[in-house]
Amino acid sequence: MSLPTLLELLRLATGYLREKGVEQPRLDAEVLLAHVLKTERIMLYVHHDRPLEPEEVTAYRALVARRGRREPAPYLTGEKEFHGLPFRVTPAVLVPRPETEHLVAVALAFAGDGAWHGFDVGTGSGVLAVTLAVRCPQARLVASDLSPEALAVARENAQRHGVDDRVELVEGDLWAGREPRGAWDLVISNPPYLTAQEMAGLPPEVRWEPQLALDGGPDGLAVIRRLAAEAWAHLRPGGLLAFEIGASQAAACLELLENTGHYRDARVTHDHAGLPRVVS
Ligand code: GLN
Repeated sequence: MSLPTLLELLRLATGYLREKGVEQPRLDAEVLLAHVLKTERIMLYVHHDRPLEPEEVTAYRALVARRGRREPAPYLTGEKEFHGLPFRVTPAVLVPRPETEHLVAVALAFAGDGAWHGFDVGTGSGVLAVTLAVRCPQARLVASDLSPEALAVARENAQRHGVDDRVELVEGDLWAGREPRGAWDLVISNPPYLTAQEMAGLPPEVRWEPQLALDGGPDGLAVIRRLAAEAWAHLRPGGLLAFEIGASQAAACLELLENTGHYRDARVTHDHAGLPRVVS
C-alpha cells in the first residue's frame, strides 16, 4: 500500500479535526504536520510532493488523534507565540492568549524602556515577565508562581530569550513572601479570574489547562480582590498595578480598587474584540 502524499494527509487530518469540532481544523492540521516534519508551515506547500516516511505518518496520526480529543495544539507542539516571541508551553501552564498582549501594551506604555523594577504575580509560562524583559533591556522583574512545574517552564523561557539574569523566579503565593516595601514601579498579573459557573462549563480545550491558572472562586474575583488589597503596599507611590480581567468584571474591579482608597486614575483597556480586558 502506498503512503499518502503530504497534501492528502493534510486533507484527511483536516476533515477529521473538523468532524471533532476543532475550530481551525486546517490550521491545526498544518501546524501539527509542520511540527512532525520539523519545518515551517509555509514549507509544507513548497515541498508538497515530499515523500513521507512511515514513522512520520504514524507520529502525525497520533498527534491528530490527540488534537481530535481537543488537546490544545500548543501542548502537542510544546510551543506558542506571544507578542512576536516563541514560548515553550506544557500542560503545567496556561496557553498564552493573544488578549494578554494588551496587558504588555499597558505595562510598556507606562514603564517605558528605563531601568524599572516589576513584579509579575502568577507568572505561569513567564510570558509577561519574559516579554517585558526582552522589550525593556534595562528592566528587572521578579515573577512568582505557586506551581514549581510552571516555574520550570518560565525558567526555560527566560533562558531561551536570554533574560534569566533579569527575571528572578520565586515560588509562592502572590508576593512569595516578599515584604511590602513600596518599591516596585510596576505590578502586573494575569490572575485566575473565571467564575464557578464558567469553570463548570469550560470549552473542551480549556479543560486541559491548569485549574490553578483559571479558577477565580465563586465570582471569579477571589485572587483579584487579594491583589487589589495588597499591591498598593508593594508599589512605589505613582507606580502601576495592571491586571487582566474577564469581560464582565470591569465595573466590579474598578469598584474594588476604589474601595481600598489606595489607587487613583483606574482605567479599563479593551481588547480587539472591544471587550474590557485590562484594569490598570
Ligand atoms: N482568558 C482565559 C480563558 O478564557 C482565562 C485566563 C485567566 O483566568 N487568567 O480561558
